[in-house]
Amino acid sequence: MTEADVVAAVEAALSGEAGAFEGAFHGGRNGDSLIVTMHTSPLRGADGAVSGGMGVIADVTERHRFLDRIDRLAFTDLVTGLPNRTALDCRLQEALGLAALNTHKVALAVLNIDRFRHVYDTRGGHAADRLLVAVGTRLAQHVGENDTVARAGGDEFFVLLPDVCGLDDVVAVSDRIASGFRTAVLVDGEPIHVQLSMGVALSPDDAVDADELVRDATVAMRRAKRDGGGVRRLYDRAMDAQFTERLALESELHRALHNGELTVHYQPQVRGSQAAVVGVEALVRWQHPERGLLAPAEFIPLAEDPGLILPMGEWIIEAACRQVKAWHDAGLAKLRLAVNLSARQVGDDALPETIARIVEASGLEAEYLEIEITESAVMDNADLARSNVGKLKRLGVRLALDDFGTGYSSLSLLSSLPIHTVKIDRSFVAGMLEHSRDMTIVTSVIALGHRLGLNVVAEGVETREQFEVLRGNGCDEMQGYLFGRPLPAKDCETLLRRHRLLP
Ligand code: C2E
Ligand code: MG
Ligand code: MG
Repeated sequence: MTEADVVAAVEAALSGEAGAFEGAFHGGRNGDSLIVTMHTSPLRGADGAVSGGMGVIADVTERHRFLDRIDRLAFTDLVTGLPNRTALDCRLQEALGLAALNTHKVALAVLNIDRFRHVYDTRGGHAADRLLVAVGTRLAQHVGENDTVARAGGDEFFVLLPDVCGLDDVVAVSDRIASGFRTAVLVDGEPIHVQLSMGVALSPDDAVDADELVRDATVAMRRAKRDGGGVRRLYDRAMDAQFTERLALESELHRALHNGELTVHYQPQVRGSQAAVVGVEALVRWQHPERGLLAPAEFIPLAEDPGLILPMGEWIIEAACRQVKAWHDAGLAKLRLAVNLSARQVGDDALPETIARIVEASGLEAEYLEIEITESAVMDNADLARSNVGKLKRLGVRLALDDFGTGYSSLSLLSSLPIHTVKIDRSFVAGMLEHSRDMTIVTSVIALGHRLGLNVVAEGVETREQFEVLRGNGCDEMQGYLFGRPLPAKDCETLLRRHRLLP
């Protein structure tokens, strides 16, 4: 507020009109600048003529600061200081409006940090927050000054490119981002290699409105995740169809669990030396009302939601324990039951209690239950998985490392986890008679397993020749179509009563 403003306000009052001004005023008590409002109004005598003026000056600096702060909070992500989802939506709307008037395009990328949960679990929430800050900063360094990096919540970031000519521009930016993350980010002085899954959608090509563009980019990001992470995927229509189908299956799966559409099949496991049955592996199936019998690969990956996979996993183990207990009672004694756990189950802190409860309720002795876990499930959940595995061991349950050779094939896992069994993945068994490398892996894992005192099981044994070679190499147990396919309980029972399963 200048002197001229004050004079104008006073003059307005004296000429019979009210005046109001708001502005910065320099020269507060400590020489700082204030924001003040000034309201003036005329004073009139009994005859109604203006006899003077009155002015009220108020210091509204604090109120302004407060409103600014609220404004900033509403549009800022508190963890990273980046624009938040609301701010992104505003900028996206604006960008789409401008693009519609011109001929350029708008690109939106959704980025997700792979294995963020792992950082959270192993280093705690504060370190995870600092990782988010570091990732946000790194992203901002690799985009243009008109582009927006925003955090949408969780470990999800958006990059908005409001003005691109086409895909080439998008690829160039995503290349810059990818190369920007080739070096580790530092969190509390420790380097963390960050891998991002990125999904990109373009407007007007893929979507015209903001919600659609966000959705399409998210679909593409999920695709990148499903393709193993660390990659970028551009949205396309086919993806959309798959996504819709996936959503439909996912909701049907919730229903399936309650409608009794899931069933457990059992595949015999035989002792190598005599081909006598020593156990069964429980393998889930979904009897879908329209699609027929679905294999686990077609629906287990859909059940990412812990609200689905945990009760589903619990149901499978419970059903299988009850079945095998019934077989024990019917005289098929000493039969061992192997069940598979998904990564989510391995990382569930209630897992040991759940298993203890099921074992107790079914009456199956714990030593007959073997829990199969994969290396990647352990690696995904590190500390929690280790503590869970330790607790399971104390329950007296056996542990098997499934699909060995396909994941990390980590010798340290083999030696540090309290496992009883290692299962050689069927891809090696399938290839071992033709490829000497596969044969070397199979024989080495058998030898290594034995040196570590483990029970070695070969999966996917389909031919007599494979059986002979594995037996010749001292493989303890085998499982595969040669001895029996996974079968419904009733059919499996018939097979089990045959005792020796070689044709
Ligand atoms: P897995 O645990 O390695 O199970 C062995 C898979 O190999 C089964 O496939 C089985 O049907 C198949 N198989 C067995 N013998 C042969 C053979 O001689 N030749 C060939 N080509 N295949 C053979 P399936 O039942 O489709 O299961 C696939 C995977 O799904 C399983 O691999 C396991 O990781 C997962 N899975 C199965 N049931 C469950 C479950 O109840 N819970 C969870 N979390 N995962 C499950
Ligand atoms: Mg298995
Ligand atoms: Mg396996």
